[in-house]
Amino acid sequence: MRVLSGIQPTGKSHWGNYFGAIRQYIDLQDEDESYYFIANLHALTSIRDSKELQSLTTDIALDLLALGLDPNRATLYVQSDVPEVSELCWLLMTGTPMGLLERCHAYKDKKGKGLSADAGLFTYPVLMAADILAYDADIVPVGEDQQQHIEVCRDLAGSFNHQFGETFVLPKGKILDSSARVPGTDGEKMSKSYNNTLELFENPKVLRKKIMRITTDSRPMDESKEPDGDVLYDLYSLVATDEEREEMAALYRSGGFGYGDVKKALADAADHFFAEARARREELASKPDKLREILDDGASRARKKAGEVLRRAKKACGV
Ligand code: ATP
Ligand code: MG
Repeated sequence: MRVLSGIQPTGKSHWGNYFGAIRQYIDLQDEDESYYFIANLHALTSIRDSKELQSLTTDIALDLLALGLDPNRATLYVQSDVPEVSELCWLLMTGTPMGLLERCHAYKDKKGKGLSADAGLFTYPVLMAADILAYDADIVPVGEDQQQHIEVCRDLAGSFNHQFGETFVLPKGKILDSSARVPGTDGEKMSKSYNNTLELFENPKVLRKKIMRITTDSRPMDESKEPDGDVLYDLYSLVATDEEREEMAALYRSGGFGYGDVKKALADAADHFFAEARARREELASKPDKLREILDDGASRARKKAGEVLRRAKKACGV
């Protein structure tokens, strides 16, 4: 099985990204072959500051490696380091019906809000199809919102195969377990655009302050409370050990505790949970050459595979 997934460098990674996606991506590196890319060409449709895009690209690479992605087992690369994909994108673009793209929700939503969209956003599903098809990927883990784009990819690959003969492997989407809907500091879904995130590698003191400011209800200290669904408890559950979680649940049910204590416990558990990754990240961040080497090596492996598929596709359509 060949697994592929991409992450857009559009902001600092937060707990929602980790528990909702990154952790599950990384688990898949044990499949036969896995490809992970940092989708900087996609991010360019929304980030228009060169320094910012570069630093976010480096950040996400460091995050993934720190969180356990093993470049010896998985191929990690930056999307733009594999120009074969952009060329393949053009081959696919020539057979893409406008109507198909007009129905895609990323574009439709933006247009529906009266915002102007550029051709990059409009054709984003075609580049995404090229990202996938270039590696003969079988499985693409995605959030539910990306399911439609996988369908587009299968459509485009299917019609290319139909016109020019068997060329592309049709991938399957693997919907990520979205039960981990991580709440943000305001109780809403944690999201970069809501400004309510706990960043994965925030300075520990700043993170602690953010945790201390999480909104809670004004329940009297001695009343018992159902833990499930409480923002602090839900966040705590993600980073605490099973034993700690049970103790905390019992404390909620018995009452007689203050939210301040829960916040402190949450900050401590978070420190502990991410300590190893944080140390690994600091170490890697201090060796930019090493990171460059990992990404260059990933790109050269990725190019080898993408080059093979591109040659196959060009031959099939006669260019
Ligand atoms: P934006 O605000 O721009 O939508 P985001 O913070 O929601 O950004 P995305 O880039 O949309 O992050 O999401 C990346 C991945 O992380 C997706 O697979 C998404 O499902 C997952 N994810 C994001 N936020 C959460 C969350 N609060 N709980 C669980 N999963 C999440
Ligand atoms: Mg989102």
